[in-house]
Amino acid sequence: MIDTKDYLVAPGHCVRLHDIATKDNGGLTKKEGMQAIRSLSKRLFELQDLLYAQRAKSLLIVFQAMDAGGKDSTTRRVFTSVNPSMLMVRSFKKPNTEELSHDFLWRVHQHTPPKGVIGVFNRSHYEDIVTVGVNQLQPSKLWQSRFEHINSFEKMLVGEGTMVLKFYLHISKNYQKERLQRRLDRADKHWKFEFADVDAREHWDEYLALYSEAIERCSTATSPWYVVPSERRWYRDLVVLQSIVNTLDALQMDYPEPEFDPNSVKIP
Ligand code: ATP
Ligand code: MG
Repeated sequence: MIDTKDYLVAPGHCVRLHDIATKDNGGLTKKEGMQAIRSLSKRLFELQDLLYAQRAKSLLIVFQAMDAGGKDSTTRRVFTSVNPSMLMVRSFKKPNTEELSHDFLWRVHQHTPPKGVIGVFNRSHYEDIVTVGVNQLQPSKLWQSRFEHINSFEKMLVGEGTMVLKFYLHISKNYQKERLQRRLDRADKHWKFEFADVDAREHWDEYLALYSEAIERCSTATSPWYVVPSERRWYRDLVVLQSIVNTLDALQMDYPEPEFDPNSVKIP
């Protein structure tokens, strides 16, 4: 079992993504890692069933990363074993006119998971600090007030029964180049290529600095951030899976007791 605390950002801890490794294996071989992933996937399936049976809590997973950082493939691979009818995945793109006419949390709040359900945000309200800040899409005073608003929002979610886990899938600028090149080299990936992703590389350092600040200021004891080394995909999946399973295991869930004696019921 790997120690996911190595990737957890302790509240108040200084974060400098520039200095954090993007590749790791936790001392495991790929074969060992894949074996661990298989057993954690099975456990996640059981835990998801318990979560739904109890309908007392929900779990929100947030993924953020630089372009081509692997948010989609992590979602696909980590949740491959779970029941899709109790999973809600939502990708947040550039806000439309209606979304922009509301406060920045309006569009995300509608998609937080109801009790019993696991929700995945592929990009999230953190875009409203990082992308908005780097590209100066809104006045500084406005987006700078959002660290505090996000902390209050997530605190409210946790207080109301939604657990929150946030994962920054960390890659290097060189690795991103390889992944973007792949979208040019492979005919089945051409549809993914966007010139905007290449343009954003010019602002790499600013993105990393603002992500560092957001992660540092918004990692709390109840709504933590994990910085996941993501250049080995199997290890990235393992860190995310293990963190989710640990969180759900800590609930010590059992199937709810029926309010009747099942032996006394005769089905005609
Ligand atoms: P892929 O990995 O498949 O490219 P993606 O998440 O990058 O998926 P895209 O449609 O390519 O999806 O990009 C979505 C874009 O929307 C990103 O550039 C992201 O920064 C931007 N975006 C998301 N939320 C906001 C927001 N609140 N404000 C401004 N831009 C946003
Ligand atoms: Mg994209």
